[in-house]
Amino acid sequence: MYLPQEIIRKKRDGEILTTDEINFFIQGVANDTVSEGQIAAFAMTIFFNEMTMPERIALTCAMRDSGMVIDWSHMNFDGPIVDKHSTGGVGDVTSLMLGPMVAACGGYVPMISGRGLGHTGGTLDKLESIPGYNITPENDVFGRVTKDAGVAIIGQTGDLAPADKRVYATRDITATVDNISLITASILSKKLAAGLDSLVMDVKVGSGAFMPTYEASEELARSIVAVANGAGTKTTAILTDMNQVLASSAGNALEVREAVRFLTGEYRNPRLLEVTMASCCEMLVLGKLADSTEQAYEKLMTVLDNGKAAECFNKMVAGLGGPSDFVSNYTQYLPEAEIIKPVFAKQAGVITHMDTRAIGMAVVGMGGGRRVATDSIDYAVGFDKFAQLGDAVDAEKPLAFIHARNEQQWQEAANALQAAIHIGDPSQYQATPVVYAQIRAEDL
Ligand code: URA
Repeated sequence: MYLPQEIIRKKRDGEILTTDEINFFIQGVANDTVSEGQIAAFAMTIFFNEMTMPERIALTCAMRDSGMVIDWSHMNFDGPIVDKHSTGGVGDVTSLMLGPMVAACGGYVPMISGRGLGHTGGTLDKLESIPGYNITPENDVFGRVTKDAGVAIIGQTGDLAPADKRVYATRDITATVDNISLITASILSKKLAAGLDSLVMDVKVGSGAFMPTYEASEELARSIVAVANGAGTKTTAILTDMNQVLASSAGNALEVREAVRFLTGEYRNPRLLEVTMASCCEMLVLGKLADSTEQAYEKLMTVLDNGKAAECFNKMVAGLGGPSDFVSNYTQYLPEAEIIKPVFAKQAGVITHMDTRAIGMAVVGMGGGRRVATDSIDYAVGFDKFAQLGDAVDAEKPLAFIHARNEQQWQEAANALQAAIHIGDPSQYQATPVVYAQIRAEDL
C-alpha cells in the first residue's frame, strides 16, 4: 500500500520510483483519489529531477492503460497497424496524404489526431473544413472505415488515456509542460492506446517547433524512441525542419485543398513531399511492407501516381460522413474567403529567415485557430502560394496570398507576415536540411 505524498517525497529527494509506485499514482489520477495539488507536485518533482528511461516507460504504460487500449485483433486486418505523430507545426498537412498513401500500400492507419495547439495547426480542424466529416464516429464506424479505406483520421475519445487528460490539464497551469519525461509519456500514452504495431514520430526543429533548440528536439526524439520501443511498439523518430511553413499554404481549408492537389498530382510542394515521404517510407519499413527505404519510396510514388492514394483519401472522407465525390469536386465543397490578395515584402531581396511561430499565430489571429478552447474556427482564412526561404521577392513576386474575410483582417495579416518574414541579401541565407536525422531503436 502506497501513499501519493510518499511517492512525491521519494521523487523530490532524487530517488528512482518503482513501476508499482508509478502505477499506483497514475491509477489514483484516473480514479480521482489523487488530488490536483498532488499531480502538480508530482509533475514539478519530475520537472526538476527528470525520470530514468525505465521510469518513463512505466509512466507511459500506466497512462496508456488508464483507459481503453484498442484491440484490433477481431478486425482481421491483412496488414500492419501503423501510425505517425508529429510534434506540430505550421502548414504541416502531412497526415492527410500520409495516411492514404500508406493505406494504398497495404498498411492500416487508425489515426487519432488532435486540434490546433498554440501556433500549430490541428489535423482535426483541417478535416472539419470538409462538410459532413465526423471526427467523433462510433467505434464500429472507426473500425469499419479503417478496414475499408485503410485509413481513418478521427479525434481522441474520452476513454483513451484519461490519466493524461488530468495530468496535462494540471501541467498546463503549473508551468510543467516543457519537460521531456512528461512530454514523452503524454504523447505516447495517447498514441499507444490506439493499439499500433509501429509508429513514426516526426519531431520538428526550428522557429515554428515546439522544442526551442535542435538539441532539445533531438533529446525528445531519443526519449520517444527509447520509451515507445521499451513499451513494446516499434518506433522510429525523424527530425524535420520547421524553420518555414512546410506546405505552400497555412489555414484549414487551404491545407485540405493542398492535400488533395498533392494526392492527385496537381501540385506537390517539394519540401512537403520530402517530409511526407520520409515518414511514409519508415512506416512501410517498420510495418514490413517494404524491405528498404528505396523500395518503400518506389511503392509510395506508384500509389500517388496511379491514383490509389487519392482513392483511399476519398473513401475515408465518404466513410466518415463527407461528400462521396470530394476528391473530384473539392473546390465546390471547401469554404472560400471573400478577399484573396497577394502581400509583398516592403523591400526587394531574398527571404533569409521566417518566424514560423509568428506566422502560425497570424493564422490564429485571423480566426483560423483558437485562442481559447471554446473559440470556433473560420476554416476559410489563411495563406497560400507561400514563398520559401531563399526565394527572391520584389514588387512582382509576393510573400504569399492572404485569404481574409475583410480588408481590415487582410491588413492585419499582411502586417504580421511582413514582420515575420525577414528579407536580406543572398549571402545572409543559409539553406537548412528538410530532414535532419532519423533515429531508430538500434541507433540508441
Ligand atoms: N502534446 C501532448 O500531447 N503532450 C505534451 O505534453 C506536449 C505536447
